Amino acid sequence: MTIAVVLFTSDLRVHDHPPLRAALEGGREIVPLFVRDPAVDRAGFAAPNRLAFLADCLRDLDASLRGLGGRLVVRTGDTAAEVHRVVREAEADEVHMAGGHAAFARTRESGLRRALEAEGCRLYTHDAVFTAVPPGDLTPQGSDHFAVFTPYFRRWSAEPLRTPWPAPRELRVPASLRSEDLPGRAGLSGVSPGLAAGGEGEGRAQLRSWLARHAAEYEDRHDDLAGDVTSRLSPHLHFGTLSAVELVHRARRHGGPGAEAFIRQVCWRDFHQQVLAARPESSGTDYRSRGDRWRHGREAAADLLAWQEGRTGYPIVDAAMRQLAHEGWMHNRGRLITASFLTKTLYLDWRAGARHFLSLLVDGDVANNQLNWQWVAGTGTDTRPNRVLNPVLQGRRYDPDGAYVRRWVPELAGLDGPDVHEPWRLPGLERAAYDYPDPLISLPDGLARFRHARSLE
Ligand code: FAD
Repeated sequence: MTIAVVLFTSDLRVHDHPPLRAALEGGREIVPLFVRDPAVDRAGFAAPNRLAFLADCLRDLDASLRGLGGRLVVRTGDTAAEVHRVVREAEADEVHMAGGHAAFARTRESGLRRALEAEGCRLYTHDAVFTAVPPGDLTPQGSDHFAVFTPYFRRWSAEPLRTPWPAPRELRVPASLRSEDLPGRAGLSGVSPGLAAGGEGEGRAQLRSWLARHAAEYEDRHDDLAGDVTSRLSPHLHFGTLSAVELVHRARRHGGPGAEAFIRQVCWRDFHQQVLAARPESSGTDYRSRGDRWRHGREAAADLLAWQEGRTGYPIVDAAMRQLAHEGWMHNRGRLITASFLTKTLYLDWRAGARHFLSLLVDGDVANNQLNWQWVAGTGTDTRPNRVLNPVLQGRRYDPDGAYVRRWVPELAGLDGPDVHEPWRLPGLERAAYDYPDPLISLPDGLARFRHARSLE
């Protein structure tokens, strides 16, 4: 009987899992393996919030596998070396894993392939595990990737997706294999106090409940900051506790304008993945340079710190930054407002903002984070690179009665509706009663600096 190793990476689930399904074909014994590779930390991908969420996911995966008669084998070390070791110990002749498209995943895969070849063991990679449509599958004429979203979305929507597979009914794992203890949240420092729980069980329950309760209102209310009706499924997509293919199928089956608007957002995720796969350097360099000479020096550093700590004096910006610190997650509208404020109003480098987001976001993902930052900074794929979001107008529009600001900026909890977005307009004495900073810069000054820097006037 042949034995197959299934290497789990960003696909921590048992439902709709192509590598698991392929490995189980023919009734093989399998070794479900997860390798904690220090190279992931060194590459800057690890952050306390994501490590905590990952620990939840691994425990949940192990529990699911045990329910099927197996268990998860966890090892720490270089991925290629550890898989090689497990292959030898189990006398396995196949390894199955999700195919990766990011630079890190490709390097890991080629190292693994080399290590396994020497052992006479075959590595099978499977597509559409992490995304709904694999990067590179859709290309426009004359280019290796789509640089504009709408035509990509049109092609993506017409692309047939596999029917999602159920979880296996049972599996057998060789008894003799050693596993390290599963990591836990205990001992991790710097985890946001309001961080959500991870794991496939959580993700599936959240999807069910969101479809039933909020999908219908998503189209109209997805930008309502206080309403908070978006799915919050991004960490589950990031860790693969939900399959993007299954998610799209379920949303399509649910139907209606809300589900359609949601599917369009899920497509943005695939869009950024295919841009990064084709232009890996865009994780750190401008996709389309605008000749920016971002501010540097002591004053710039102080502004960056005030932004990070939610002390810019613009309540909607500060509220969103504090939500990020508290939950390790931020509403998409908040991400747009805070990123625009940093890059265009403060004229600070998008890389500094992206780095801070990645240090906290539980869904922090190089493709989605860096390319959304570039999109907002105007160095990415946005066709209107110089648009600037006015934080006061954004606050009035997307938090009209101020509930979001009051939730996250308790200093201003005594202020109502429009006032809460412009506390500096309050008369002297009344204003002094609120222990809240003055704006770092006036909006017209920020705009003038940006327009000058981009030679727009
Ligand atoms: P929903 O509105 O419920 O959307 C469903 C899913 O669609 C999301 O879970 C997500 O996977 C995908 N999605 C939605 N909007 C986008 C988008 N603009 N780009 C790509 N995918 C999208 N998303 C990440 O997953 N990781 C990141 O590191 C990340 N960094 C961002 C940084 C900036 C500056 C900005 C403006 C956006 C960023 N996003 C990132 C995209 C988006 O903000 C989040 O995906 C979304 O807020 C997650 O909340 P949700 O699951 O409730 O989204």
